[in-house]
Amino acid sequence: MLVDSHCHLDFPDLADRLPDVLLRMQENRVDLAVCIGVNLEDFPKVLALAEAQPNLFATVGVHPEYTDVEEPSLEQLVQLAAHPKVIAIGETGLDYYWQKDQPEWQRERFRTHIRAAKVSGKPLVVHTRDSAVDTLRLLKEEGAGAVGGVMHCFTENWDIATQALDLGFHLSFSGIVTFKNALIVKEVAQKCPLDRMLIETDAPYLAPVPYRGKQNQPAYVRYVAEEIARLRSLSFEEVAMATSDNFLRLFKIPVDHQPS
Ligand SMILES: [Zn+2]
Ligand SMILES: [Zn+2]
Repeated sequence: MLVDSHCHLDFPDLADRLPDVLLRMQENRVDLAVCIGVNLEDFPKVLALAEAQPNLFATVGVHPEYTDVEEPSLEQLVQLAAHPKVIAIGETGLDYYWQKDQPEWQRERFRTHIRAAKVSGKPLVVHTRDSAVDTLRLLKEEGAGAVGGVMHCFTENWDIATQALDLGFHLSFSGIVTFKNALIVKEVAQKCPLDRMLIETDAPYLAPVPYRGKQNQPAYVRYVAEEIARLRSLSFEEVAMATSDNFLRLFKIPVDHQPS
């Protein structure tokens, strides 16, 4: 069993070929995938996927790179997160790559998500790009360790990794770990405690080798697991089992939603 802990199946590229995407998951033993919310306007599509497919879950949040969208309130996030198939708050966080002026509203939006996660008792899916120091600072200031969560698509160095791990967070590795030049990500994937690792595709982006540059899909999460197994001299099954167990535990997936 494999779990893709982060993908965007509501994005048109993948939504238009959903039956094929689901079939490929099945063929590759990718038993569960999480459709990540990026704004409130598109959240109904994300939730509809999770409601229609037993093996898909959803998250609710507004990504830091979106400017002209509805700003979520704490109450709204808590209310939407109450749905049984919504397993986390996010993706949220900071992105100073897309907003080089590092606007205050990003940090305010992030704080709202952390507070909503604490009220709803559901973990956070955190996005951080060119903003690791502030991301960790806000997580600490808001007491995010109480709910925990995942630093998704982790690309920071081992020093940042240890700080996130110390806060109680998990690290999720994407197809980037398969890229030949991603030496820092490979190093972190070797050192991260096995019981704190997740894997993801971030599909339709970041397809792993051998599909680098092509459209990504949840089935390809197996290449992420294969590379981590190679880096750590473990079997593919060991990595698949550990990352799946971590996922079920972190997101408190009810037994009746777990694949048999
Ligand atoms: Zn992201
Ligand atoms: Zn994403």
